[in-house]
Amino acid sequence: MTHSRTHIHELLDQHGLAARRELGQNFVADPNTVRRIAELAQVGPGDLVVEIGPGLGSLTLALVETGAMVVAVEIDTGLAKVAADILGNTATVITADALKLDWDALIAEHRGPEVDGGVHVVSNLPYNVGTTLVLDILADVEQVTTVTVLVQAEVADRFAAGPGSKIYGIPSVMAALHSTCEVVASVPPSVFVPKPKVNSSVVRFVRRAVAPEVSHGELARVVKAGFGQRRKMLRRSLSGLLTEEQITAAGVDATLRAEQLGLDQWITLASVVDSNG
Ligand code: SAM
Repeated sequence: MTHSRTHIHELLDQHGLAARRELGQNFVADPNTVRRIAELAQVGPGDLVVEIGPGLGSLTLALVETGAMVVAVEIDTGLAKVAADILGNTATVITADALKLDWDALIAEHRGPEVDGGVHVVSNLPYNVGTTLVLDILADVEQVTTVTVLVQAEVADRFAAGPGSKIYGIPSVMAALHSTCEVVASVPPSVFVPKPKVNSSVVRFVRRAVAPEVSHGELARVVKAGFGQRRKMLRRSLSGLLTEEQITAAGVDATLRAEQLGLDQWITLASVVDSNG
């Protein structure tokens, strides 16, 4: 069972709730969409799924159907109560801000003999915190092996962009440091209540098997400097961190611009900045 459009309106009315824009509340009112997301997430029995923002439980119901153990983290107390009622003992609903979550404690509490598979994040993400949440999870929560999220199409495309593209930027490089990332489906505004103005996409991140050689923080410093002045050549945009000679000695052409640099070159430059101390 998943929610229809009528059912979502009824649930909101019944509980005296309304979609809160500041929390990015656009509820999915289409069973096919939530089932497709659950399928694309490739989760099932033995897996622990952490869902961020269950709302009224649309996607949660589909995730429960896969047989995975589902823990859903909702910031809105009113919605968390409704979701907990609807889901009963099929999923655990926690009222918390996902940006401040103690991931180690949550994972330790819910993994066990019958939940010994991977840890996966699946979410129809609130648009205002989507990019930050994904990058924080990739950087800080190593146990999470895949992240499958519905976000604005533009945000998904930016995550998946590669060098040479106009939309290649900080999120693309930082996501690539930890994962391979692919846009796996597109979702029209018509499936949401209320309907957003833009298209959405499902984007899936699969954590790299080998941990990166530089830290997230080190790479972020260099990448931010580079894309902070994306039209300038590296010798200029990175001048606060590296000399032109250092860039060249690292085997990188200092006349390139940030959007032309692949992950390996960013990592090389970040390592030189690190060795500078
Ligand atoms: N999963 C539901 C669905 O697909 O219909 C709702 C998705 S809605 C786009 C985003 C949900 O995230 C809302 O329920 C919102 O209250 C919740 N949310 C917003 N910010 C949050 C945060 N920092 N931590 C946890 N949940 C958050």
